[in-house]
Amino acid sequence: MASAPTQLQHYPPRLAARILVAEDHPINQVLVRKILEKLGFDVLLAADGEIALSLWRADPLCIDLILMDIQMPNLDGLETTRRIRQDESHSRRSVPIVALTAHAMNGDAERCLQAGMNAYLSKPIDISRLVSTLHGLLSAQPAAS
Ligand code: MN
Repeated sequence: MASAPTQLQHYPPRLAARILVAEDHPINQVLVRKILEKLGFDVLLAADGEIALSLWRADPLCIDLILMDIQMPNLDGLETTRRIRQDESHSRRSVPIVALTAHAMNGDAERCLQAGMNAYLSKPIDISRLVSTLHGLLSAQPAAS
């Protein structure tokens, strides 16, 4: 899914941020957590969209960004994103949400953006694209408290 984790330390700069990872596949959970922690991020893991939604609702201010798998049981990534955006509609905050999807199908990117996601990454994860996407979105707004 990703290339050698030893190369990760060469990516500057580090941003202190907490990332909620919504991902149902156990191997991807381990891999994504490892990559993000190597990059210096705090990682919160949710095994499906329902769990991700309740973690975010419990403390939206402590989550700086969400990496969202699309295909998940209970609540998929698109519906989870729609519910978060609905909750946010009366607030000034908008958590950056990045789609992670296994199938780079036609129309996927558009569906993700329509659901309210900010960006779209396909698996296997390209680490330099991941890093530039995260840094672009995280530096665009102040860190969570
Ligand atoms: Mn999945």
